[in-house]
Amino acid sequence: MATEKLYYRDPYLHTFSAQVVAVKPGWLALDRTAFYPEGGGQPADQGWLQDKRVTDVQLDEEGVIWHQVDLELETGAMVEGRLDWLRRFDHMQQHTAQHVLSQVFWQLFSAETVGFHLGEQVVTIDLAVTERDLNETALAQAEALANAKLRGKLLVRSYEVSAEMLDPNLLRKLPKVETDIRLVEIGDFDLCPCGGTHVCDLGEVGLLKVLGCEKKRGNLRVSFVAGQRAYRDYHNKHEQLLTLSQMLSEPIVGVVDAVARLQTRLKELEREEKHLRQQLLIKEAKELLASAQDLGGSNIIAQELLNSTLDEVKFLASYLAEQGPNLVLFGVPGDPYRLVAAANSQLRLAVGPLLQQVVSQHGGRGGGTPTSAQGAVPAAVGAIALEQLVTACRQVLN
Ligand SMILES: [Zn+2]
Repeated sequence: MATEKLYYRDPYLHTFSAQVVAVKPGWLALDRTAFYPEGGGQPADQGWLQDKRVTDVQLDEEGVIWHQVDLELETGAMVEGRLDWLRRFDHMQQHTAQHVLSQVFWQLFSAETVGFHLGEQVVTIDLAVTERDLNETALAQAEALANAKLRGKLLVRSYEVSAEMLDPNLLRKLPKVETDIRLVEIGDFDLCPCGGTHVCDLGEVGLLKVLGCEKKRGNLRVSFVAGQRAYRDYHNKHEQLLTLSQMLSEPIVGVVDAVARLQTRLKELEREEKHLRQQLLIKEAKELLASAQDLGGSNIIAQELLNSTLDEVKFLASYLAEQGPNLVLFGVPGDPYRLVAAANSQLRLAVGPLLQQVVSQHGGRGGGTPTSAQGAVPAAVGAIALEQLVTACRQVLN
């Protein structure tokens, strides 16, 4: 026999007694219950039967409501039930706010709600429109009208009607069921078939904040929070802003400008740092050039660079190669060991293929152009490979 749904008679009922009418492992069915079973976008209630936690509630095809609970009882036993009321009241606030927001989008933009999900953190509705139909201004307008309604005193009523009594023209959407159709009426503002639980007065929701929107399967998904969730969201964001304002020693209204100034300053500093680094590298390049070996009209600069990054080594090599008839051969110890070579074009030395030859002898890899190349070999043979490259280049230059 179908379970008597106490949550329809009184959505504020949060303690009740009932009789066990059926059992299966981990689940109990009662003759009546205040626990709302998952459905219509609203999650299942949680709470307690006796002192055991009810973790899930589901409605089966026969209309029996099952409570998932670790409580072994026989059919016929009496139980005391208690809802996790704060959680349920939160669901009532979110769900009623959803009806208001959906009606607002319908009234303002003919945007039909085709999906609803009441999540742990945020609530979403899917609107049958695209981003182009609803811009930020439209969303703000909808949020403002929804809030004006939620501060008002409109009464929310829910009741059952038969299909014959129903005038589809009065409804925001058509019912999905053909019998036991339940309508939720918000004053003369909204009328919609819905099996969820709702507050009695819109003022009990009080506040709604749209958090954003995104494209979702051809629809526009709008996320929001309402009631206590919206207040908590405001509280948390205010705390974050307050911390930022203290970190920046700026009043909250000045935080955005202060961060923009910091970003500009950071970019300036990054440019300055890059410039200074190059100056240092050019100084280092001049020192390296002083230690170059003269090879009858050309200079060879060959050595290991221990304290430079690969990018710095590449910069040094190409800078030195541009300064005159220079051949530059650097080794960068590490695993793998890197070889960086560059040759001034006047030398007519194809250092790239020579480097390629040496690294492939050691099972390494390399690449580049004839006058500028890099490669890598295993750490253990790095110094030998550099030496071989130097010898190979000298033979060609001689
Ligand atoms: Zn609903």
